[in-house]
Amino acid sequence: MTEKVTIIGSGPAGWTAAIYAARAELQPVVYEGAETEENRLKGTLPLGQLSQTTEVENFPGFPSGDMTAYLDSSIDDDKRRYMAPHQKHGVSGPELMELMRQQAANFGARIVTDDIVSVDTSERPFKMKTLSGAEITSHAVIIATGARANYLGLPSEERFKNMGVSACAVCDGALPRFRNQPVVVVGGGDSAMEEATFLTKFASVVYIVHRRDSFRASRIMAERALNNPKIQVKWNSVVDEVLGDDQKGVTGVRIRNTDDADQSEVVEATGYFAAIGHTPNTEFLKGQLQTNEKGYLIWTTPHRTMTSVEGIFASGDVADDYYRQAVTAAGTGCSSALDAERWLAAQGIE
Ligand code: NAP
Repeated sequence: MTEKVTIIGSGPAGWTAAIYAARAELQPVVYEGAETEENRLKGTLPLGQLSQTTEVENFPGFPSGDMTAYLDSSIDDDKRRYMAPHQKHGVSGPELMELMRQQAANFGARIVTDDIVSVDTSERPFKMKTLSGAEITSHAVIIATGARANYLGLPSEERFKNMGVSACAVCDGALPRFRNQPVVVVGGGDSAMEEATFLTKFASVVYIVHRRDSFRASRIMAERALNNPKIQVKWNSVVDEVLGDDQKGVTGVRIRNTDDADQSEVVEATGYFAAIGHTPNTEFLKGQLQTNEKGYLIWTTPHRTMTSVEGIFASGDVADDYYRQAVTAAGTGCSSALDAERWLAAQGIE
């Protein structure tokens, strides 16, 4: 059987595409990714990056916190019937993703917990292979595989992954090894601020190691971090090596001053968190679709989700190195389903 539309990826873009494609009666199938150790280490497990965060404060429709007092004072009684009975809003990243997944399933999207490992774009319908060895064909394909966190690329980072090295404080920060211990966060963007601030719940002190003398992060997030008494910043510093041993895992980090190469320092820490940006998950495409210089998929028609191969659409962070928000990913996920629907109709495939 040839699928009408196959959606690869299971973040906000993938699920929104699935909701729209299912409601358009395209019977979409979603490859949500495989639950493998490799994907866990890479940060590419099903449900994507949002499933690795805590509270989501900026997804429209989910104001954070307990809304009871606000609703009591601001919503007229006759409008209260629109509100959920518990009157408590806010949503966590994992909850939002599970809700989107369920919403797609409710409309009939089929969900396969497997990775697509290759797509042959040379002929239509497209042939794809899965990690578990299945072969599928599909008229249209929506790529919504997102992006993943970067590491510095040090051998010592690799050595201590799972033993104190992580790129996701929210996933790993509560582990016993970080409780009441010093930890290090590398980076100067919003991710670094968010991770460092989150880690102060558990760690005794959080060192942010940043290669310059000012943060790239938004002012509000930088100030929140700088005002936190548990956070100390090592400015103009780079990490040369993550230190540790096979028994204890990470025991510290050797950092070097960028102004004075001779000035190096060992910061004792049981944890090392990389927060230095992201890489789009496009390896399985093996260079068959056009990308920008950072490897993000390119939309070849402005404001439309068409890629350089007709019949293949892209949405979410895999095609966005600029906004990278859950709501923009959901928005382009919707666009990609509509684009695919119209393209299929034009091909006479309904
Ligand atoms: P980012 O903004 O690209 O910041 C990456 C940081 O890592 C920069 O400070 C950069 O240093 C540093 N860096 C990169 N490569 C490095 C290397 N090899 N060695 C040392 N340092 C390195 O990435 P991000 O923080 O992940 O944020 C990505 C996007 O998501 C942004 O648009 C951000 O606003 C958004 N975001 C938003 C929130 C939120 O609002 N809650 C949370 C997280 C992320 P330089 O500054 O020197 O380049």
